[in-house]
Amino acid sequence: MKFSDLGLNENTLKAVADVGYTEPTPIQEKAIPEILKRNDVMGIAQTGTGKTAAFTLPMIDILANGRAKALMPRTLILSPTRELATQIAECFQKYGKYQKLSMALLIGGESMVEQQKILSRGVDVLIATPGRMLDLCERGRILLRDVRVFVLDEADRMLDMGFLPDIRRICSHLPNKRQSLLFSATLSPEIEHLARAIVNNPLKITISPDKPTVEKIDQKAAMLESTNKYNFLLELLNSKADTKDFLALVFCRTKHGASKLAKRLNKDGIKADAIHGDKTQSARQKALDKFKNRAITALVATDIAARGIDVKNMNLVVNYDLPDEPETYVHRIGRTARAEADGEAVSICTRDNVKDFYAVEKFIRQNIPLYKDTQYHSESVFEDVQKMRALRAKADAKRQPQPKRVKDKDFSAESLYGERRPTVFLEREQPKN
Ligand code: ADP
Ligand code: MG
Repeated sequence: MKFSDLGLNENTLKAVADVGYTEPTPIQEKAIPEILKRNDVMGIAQTGTGKTAAFTLPMIDILANGRAKALMPRTLILSPTRELATQIAECFQKYGKYQKLSMALLIGGESMVEQQKILSRGVDVLIATPGRMLDLCERGRILLRDVRVFVLDEADRMLDMGFLPDIRRICSHLPNKRQSLLFSATLSPEIEHLARAIVNNPLKITISPDKPTVEKIDQKAAMLESTNKYNFLLELLNSKADTKDFLALVFCRTKHGASKLAKRLNKDGIKADAIHGDKTQSARQKALDKFKNRAITALVATDIAARGIDVKNMNLVVNYDLPDEPETYVHRIGRTARAEADGEAVSICTRDNVKDFYAVEKFIRQNIPLYKDTQYHSESVFEDVQKMRALRAKADAKRQPQPKRVKDKDFSAESLYGERRPTVFLEREQPKN
């Protein structure tokens, strides 16, 4: 399948070619033609599978005709974080470069004066985080009556961050007659419920890889006593210092922990910065830019701040603290090995979080290989992990084997899922005629 088979216009195709994409990803292949037909879409595909272009490309086409009126944006995209909103804006700029699009970005922490000015001239594309959006909307500074396409991106993260009430209120300002698109990395009953209030008889596209983890990533786990965590990280980062273009993303559980760790690394000669929710938008963007430009080699982040960070060729993700939710593990390690690149993920397991480690292994249905190349290895922590694994193996043996799913043979997604082909499900409640 080529981009030119999807029904996109010449300008958009030219912009895609400039970016260098050769083939649409599975979610793009299914979503783009449907969006161009002006139907509602609900797209579920894991992080890093190109969901942003799946909606920006057809929207650019749809926006080719018509003009925006003052204070009445023609499309609205809600995004959970400032970073993600900024990345979406960059996509519109990149893919829409052969078409004059007016765009405004409403995100917390940034001066509103300039954006208000742009809005008052009328915008084709409005990208916003929910809080900021609702605020302006309720003060009558923006009218959503003219919104033809509404996008809720990263719906799962929106719910995690408690944006549900805001989203519902924003939706009450939208016209009933509109096209709605919802994208999410994961699907839960809460998302299904939210979707019912937003999309209307959507085509539901679910792309599920055979394993809930990205296969190209070389995953390792280090078994350590807690007191050795920092020394291990230092040893690990130093061992990579000579790797060309080396970049590491280090995950911490708390904002305070992230700041402290970045400071400590700097003292020990590793250029690092932290990114988390307590930092101002400009400080976060600055840290991210430094990372992208390779002025620092390590970026220490909390989960929410790191969500969706898209840095080309990031080689290493370190789980300095294991996540509370096993699913977060997959999101985190998915930050490396984006698109074509390979990546490595090293997780630290200490005696206190053998349980969290076990939850991760259970979720991804595999044992994470041991990181052996360290002087800090703790055999006793490793023994605890082995005991857990033995229990799990026993429980697994008791379970019934799962029936095999039939795969969509026409699908070529090796670029994203390694050798395996993802399973693609298409569903619609009422048939379209
Ligand atoms: P998601 O929102 O699904 O997590 P993104 O939209 O952020 O993923 O895309 C992840 C990465 O994949 C980005 O770096 C993007 O440039 C790249 N990408 C998107 N579409 C393609 C494609 N068709 N071919 C190659 N790379 C792509
Ligand atoms: Mg996304």
